[in-house]
Formats: sequence, structure tokens, C-alpha cells
Amino acid sequence: METRIYNIDGHSLALAKKIIESGGAVAFPTETVYGLGANALNDEAVRGIYAIKGRPSDNPLIVHVHKDYDLSSLVDFIPEYSKELAKAFLPGPLTMVYRSSKKVSPVVSCGLDTLAVRIPSHEGAQEFLKYVDLPIAAPSANISKHVSPVTAQHVFDDLNGRISCILDGGKCSGGIESTVLDCTGDVPCVLRSGLVTRDMIAQVAGECDEYHMVEGEKVRSPGMKYKHYSPRCMTRLYSYSDRFEALREYTECKKRGLKAYIMCDDGVAEELKINDVLKLGADESEIARNLYDKLREGEQVAEIIIAVAPLKQDGVMVGVMNRLSKACG
Ligand code: AMP
Ligand code: MG
Repeated sequence: METRIYNIDGHSLALAKKIIESGGAVAFPTETVYGLGANALNDEAVRGIYAIKGRPSDNPLIVHVHKDYDLSSLVDFIPEYSKELAKAFLPGPLTMVYRSSKKVSPVVSCGLDTLAVRIPSHEGAQEFLKYVDLPIAAPSANISKHVSPVTAQHVFDDLNGRISCILDGGKCSGGIESTVLDCTGDVPCVLRSGLVTRDMIAQVAGECDEYHMVEGEKVRSPGMKYKHYSPRCMTRLYSYSDRFEALREYTECKKRGLKAYIMCDDGVAEELKINDVLKLGADESEIARNLYDKLREGEQVAEIIIAVAPLKQDGVMVGVMNRLSKACG
């Protein structure tokens, strides 16, 4: 199968619609990462996504809809706090989990009685979703467990030969996957952290819990138990306070003739003064935006990426650290 990257226009949208309607999968941009979408109403189409990615079959998918889509047809009950959160943050990088009305294929939620729904803000994503006017089940458009894609080229690098159409919407502005919020209880609960932080949610909803996996207990968000986001080279992760330890390991690696790179924020890069650096940026939104891009750049040039965690660990950095420790843990 030939894989092509298309600018988003009338021609490529018509092609994408044709592929989706015939049960195929299309890669499309969002403000978080690129998604691999298929018709959420079609069992075979949804199974196709798992096959293309090599995704474990018990890791449920998020359904994406355009901003005027009638959500009430997909889910059973929308609590008041969700309506407030939607007003504050949607379209945007917040996925909400509801009781499913069972309209979409059971393959989407892997048999769970809940459904995760997201309304992306990326203009190209909205155009695509409007044009097909179907609920689109979409995980990130990468081979399972590899680093998520934030450019059309990243998608191509992973899925060349496995899909025919990649819609190109430029580099994703957010850079890490959406916040996943369980909205089935009296109080919303963060299952996966992202750019919409727990504090931001609590400010609107009054309260917000955060889920932590407990050993031996059934996980509430099956994706959490999997290894994720790994670059194809060796990795290490140091805390900010151990940054000079990281520098020592870097120097050791170089002595042994290994291609070593340090991945860190701009401040640490300046302090350590090394040549082989993957700079993540100066503030939390830059760091989130550049994380996957730099991990993918790193695996091309480095035999080992030595990452130094930023000093700041709250807000958006909770989500960044979650990915960084899965990538380099
Ligand atoms: P990905 O598509 O790779 O960004 O992963 C989607 C994430 O959403 C995974 O962590 C899933 O476990 C989570 N998710 C999707 N649907 C549900 C659901 N119905 N209940 C809980 N978590 C979900
Ligand atoms: Mg993913």
C-alpha cells in the first residue's frame, strides 16, 4: 500500500471520507498528537486500527467528534460539571469518559460500559471530523509503544505501507496526549494527565480527584499499565537535582565512544554547556510541545539519550513527567 501525505483541502478530505466510509483508517492532525482514525460505528474498521498499530486489544480508544456533533446520542448521562468543563475547555485537549449509550462499536471501549469522547480544537481535525460527520475512534498514529507522532512525517516514518492517507496539519501545538477525565462519578477524576491540568479542572468543577494505579487492583484506564512512548535507543532519566550525575554519565559514554545526547530544558542546557543536547525549551508549554519531537530526533542521532527532568514538577509538567518516565524509565 502506498502511503501519501496530503495538505488538507477539498480533494484530500473527499479521499479521507471515502476511506473512512469503506472501513479504512486515516491519519489526521490534532492539537495534541496525530491520530489514526476509523469509523467508530464499524467493528471491522475499529479492529483495523488495533491491527495497524499492533495495539493491545484491551486498551480502549477515544472517540473524536466535531464541535457540533450531538454527544447525547453516544453517551447515557452527562453530569452538570462536565457541561461546565465543556464550556471552559472544549474544543480542546480534554477527553471525558461517560457511561456509553452503546451506539458505537463495542470494540472501541474493549467491552467496558464507558466511552471516552474528545472534541479536538485543531482546525484540520475539525474540518476532517465535520466532513466525514461520523464518530471517529482514534489512538495516536504510531506503532504501539513507540513515541507518539507530532508531525505528518513522524506518522509516515511509523506507518508507511500500512495506511494510504495522512492529512498534514503541521506540527502539533500541544505535544502530549489529551487529559483523560473520568466523568462517571460525582467528582471528576483524572485518569491521564495532560495540558488541561487537575487544578484547571478543579477550578471549574469545584473538585477533582486523580487516579493512581494500585498494585493488584483492576486498572480504571487500561492504557496506563502499558509501556509507552519509547524511543529506539538506550535511555536514562535523572532528576533535576542529579543533573551533574547526568553530565558525568554523558562524559563516561562519550569516553566509551557512544553517541550520547542529553535531553533537558534550556536552563539546564546552558548550565551544563555540552554540544550534544536535545533542548526541550524554556517553559512548560514549550517542553510539552517539543518532548516527542526531541525523543524522535534523539533516536535518529543518539545511541543513548540521557534525560534530565525539569525543576518544575506541577501543572502541565505532571503530564510531561508521566510521559518522560515511561519513555526513559
Ligand atoms: P491513546 O489513544 O493511545 O491516547 O490512549 C487512550 C487512553 O484513553 C488510554 O490510556 C485508555 O486507557 C484511555 N481510555 C480510553 N477509553 C477509556 C474508557 N472508556 N475508560 C477509561 N479510560 C479510557
Ligand atoms: Mg498512544
